[in-house]
Amino acid sequence: MLIKFFKNLFKNNNEKILEEVNIILNLINDMEKKFSKFSDKKLRENTNKYRNKIFNKNTLNSILPEAYSTVREASKRVLGMRHFDVQIIGGIVLNNRCIAEMKTGEGKTLTSTLPIYLNSLSGNGVHVVTMNDYLANRDYNQNKKLFEFLGVSSSLNLQGMSIKMKKNAYSSDITYGTNNEFCFDYLRDNMIFCNSNRVQKKLNYAIIDEVDSILIDEARTPLVISGFSYSNKNLYNKINNLVYNFILKKEKYNKNDCKNDNFYIDKKRKQIYLTENGFLNIENIFVKNNVLNKNSSLYCSENIMFFQYIINSLKAHKLFFKNIDYIVKDNKILIVDEHTGRISNNRRWSDGLHQAIEAKEKIKINDESYTLASITFQNYFRLYKKLSGMSGTAETESEEFKSIYNLNTVVIPTNKPICRKDFNDLIYMTEKEKIKSIIKDIKNCIKNKQPVLVGTSSIEKSELISNKLNKLKIKHNILNAKFHSKEAEIIKNAGMLSSVTIATNMAGRGTDIMLGGSFNYFLKKNKKKYKFFSKKKIFSIWENNKNVVLSLGGLHIIGAERHESRRIDNQLIGRSGRQGDVGSSRFYVSMEDSLIKIFVSNKIINIIKKLGIKNNEPINNIFINKAIYNSQKKLENYNYEIRAKLLEYDDIVNEQRLIFYYKRNKILKSKNITKIIFKISIEVFNSLVNFYFKEKNKNFCENIKILKRYLKKVFNILFLKKNIFIEKNMFYNNIIIKNIFKIFKKNYLKKKINFSEKEFNKFEKIIVLKVLDKFWREHLYDLEHLRSSIHLRGYADKDPKQEYKKESFLMFMKMISSIKNEIISMMSFFSSKKYSFDFFILKMNDFYNKKLFLETSFQEFIKNKNFY
Ligand code: ADP
Repeated sequence: MLIKFFKNLFKNNNEKILEEVNIILNLINDMEKKFSKFSDKKLRENTNKYRNKIFNKNTLNSILPEAYSTVREASKRVLGMRHFDVQIIGGIVLNNRCIAEMKTGEGKTLTSTLPIYLNSLSGNGVHVVTMNDYLANRDYNQNKKLFEFLGVSSSLNLQGMSIKMKKNAYSSDITYGTNNEFCFDYLRDNMIFCNSNRVQKKLNYAIIDEVDSILIDEARTPLVISGFSYSNKNLYNKINNLVYNFILKKEKYNKNDCKNDNFYIDKKRKQIYLTENGFLNIENIFVKNNVLNKNSSLYCSENIMFFQYIINSLKAHKLFFKNIDYIVKDNKILIVDEHTGRISNNRRWSDGLHQAIEAKEKIKINDESYTLASITFQNYFRLYKKLSGMSGTAETESEEFKSIYNLNTVVIPTNKPICRKDFNDLIYMTEKEKIKSIIKDIKNCIKNKQPVLVGTSSIEKSELISNKLNKLKIKHNILNAKFHSKEAEIIKNAGMLSSVTIATNMAGRGTDIMLGGSFNYFLKKNKKKYKFFSKKKIFSIWENNKNVVLSLGGLHIIGAERHESRRIDNQLIGRSGRQGDVGSSRFYVSMEDSLIKIFVSNKIINIIKKLGIKNNEPINNIFINKAIYNSQKKLENYNYEIRAKLLEYDDIVNEQRLIFYYKRNKILKSKNITKIIFKISIEVFNSLVNFYFKEKNKNFCENIKILKRYLKKVFNILFLKKNIFIEKNMFYNNIIIKNIFKIFKKNYLKKKINFSEKEFNKFEKIIVLKVLDKFWREHLYDLEHLRSSIHLRGYADKDPKQEYKKESFLMFMKMISSIKNEIISMMSFFSSKKYSFDFFILKMNDFYNKKLFLETSFQEFIKNKNFY
């Protein structure tokens, strides 16, 4: 039966899948009576029974019906909620590497308990992934009682927890947490210096709530762990002025143009590219202003960093706008999250973009952040052995889920039929008329005391509407970047009588809007008023309120514009009409909306104008409706392309990341680093000697001199004439190599003798890991540069992706060989000098932090105590 289920899955025919799932559902329903007679103890004993079955190689699917019956029965007793049939269906789907689309309010939190419990029985860990700490906390607290009752352990993994707490959290059968935190922990685990600091176990099964937000919306930018290094503040200001004065101002650049002689802008991808002409022009400007030397070029390797400064400065001026992409508060640039509209307090754009914007805004320039480690959510979640997800809006993105994650999307029927009325869009010629009409709609709702939720896609728009309401003295709540702390509380009560709420598109996602407001809030608010009433009586008053809201038509949703994807529109609409409640929705569109401006051709706009439509009349035109739908489809495709492209490039980096992390972990776990170091040293000396003596006996004396100097400078090895074995005027490379190694080994073992085996192993490990991390960090930086300039290869008719693949591979190989060299160099210094380990590490850190700005070797650096 289950084999048949899988076969049908690939046909991706929703109805067929549901038919198969129904058979399992019937089995579970048939078991209900039997399970309801079990004592609590007997119910709990099932957990160990199932664990044994799994231990004896029974599949999860074979115990699914019984396990789900156990959870349903336990939930009735512990949570007072019986899983609806549609929730059982959702639970079955979730166990089979699928995405369950379940509308808002259908109870995804309870549904998830079924596959969570089943998958936790193997003991390999289940990660329940939510979008923010609030939801992780809420879901964990709701479900933990149920899991406790069933005898499986659950825990919460939060930002800022100590390593010990995190280790505890991950050792539970079930771990709740946010996508960011799981991902950061993975990256951090690959930056540790001591294996006992690793917090994550296997990546076994993850179930992602609001999966479209996490795997689609947030997949456009990789997650990054940054470090800080000194930034050249004057240079940022200087380049900002040059770029502004010479490129933007003088060229009388038309604000809406995307292309000119010097550069072109890809607004959708938020990228700017210099043309060949632009490259030459900026080079001239830099020479004239003494940023570059007269005979120097931007192409020279020592100047290549300017390229990043220029691009960032152009981006700052042409692609990043105040109050849309960021706000300036207390002399700081704070990023506005493009999906949630929230302020991201701790985020900074990396690799110099943040500083370029600081220069543009003429505020203090902070130190530069550089990438220590990074990964996209796509590549992180693909590391799990099994993945599944839930969302109210996933179907429109089902192709992407299939192609990238191999996840099928199954639409689960609602528990009760949907009664919400979705009205046709009202379309206006101008933004002004549109806003006027929105205000009229809000006023109408208030007149009837019907609650209304207005969804906007930017802070600017939400403030505009809020200001209008303020002028009219209409009380309302506004939920945007600036008031995010009370988000869940405000959204929860958006269904109260007469309430008006304005929210940017994803604010409070995951929080249910209760008609009549939440009971707890009602209780708190009316504490004094009903102080002599019993709780039951207050509850009935509250219920009455809810019925009044229902009789008024439920929650009315106003969309202040169509969003960039139908999915986000659906998220907004889905706020109303939960569990069969009445409700309504209406979107307002103007021909000045950015979606329309970018995607609807001027031709269509002109035709409409010619039709003689007055500004204050809504347009009801089938063309326009179709054009809006097509615009959204186009934008969805663009965004999909961006994500696919990011992934294509990240896949290349990912291969390297996996190899690097694998090697790093091998060092971390190794009990005999000395052996590894000796092996590497032979490789290093081998390539060194073979490099100097490619052709036997040619320039022998000269080369031997250079080699001696090099060995002294880089490896602190004193190599004497007697170490060279010459026979009949011939010398042998391998004998030279052997002799160099002998000296290295002798020094090394001499140093080692002063420490215990364990202690020395620890020292070796730290030095080697520090070298690895430093080169990996630089490699990531170089890859980023390569990424931003690889498009230039397109001019030479080369495929940028293939070029990137080729080039990055070469860079990776070069990095590996540099790492080996550096390890041996550092180890030689450490072993040949009388430095204590602590002093040596301190110097190493210092050297690596300042290396970019120093023209010196480690030898000189460590010798001179007052350097820098
Ligand atoms: P979703 O995430 O799908 O929007 P939630 O998990 O937030 O929905 O659940 C919505 C509300 O429905 C919650 O108050 C929850 O307690 C309630 N609920 C869910 N399932 C059931 C059930 N089987 N019986 C009773 N109430 C339920």
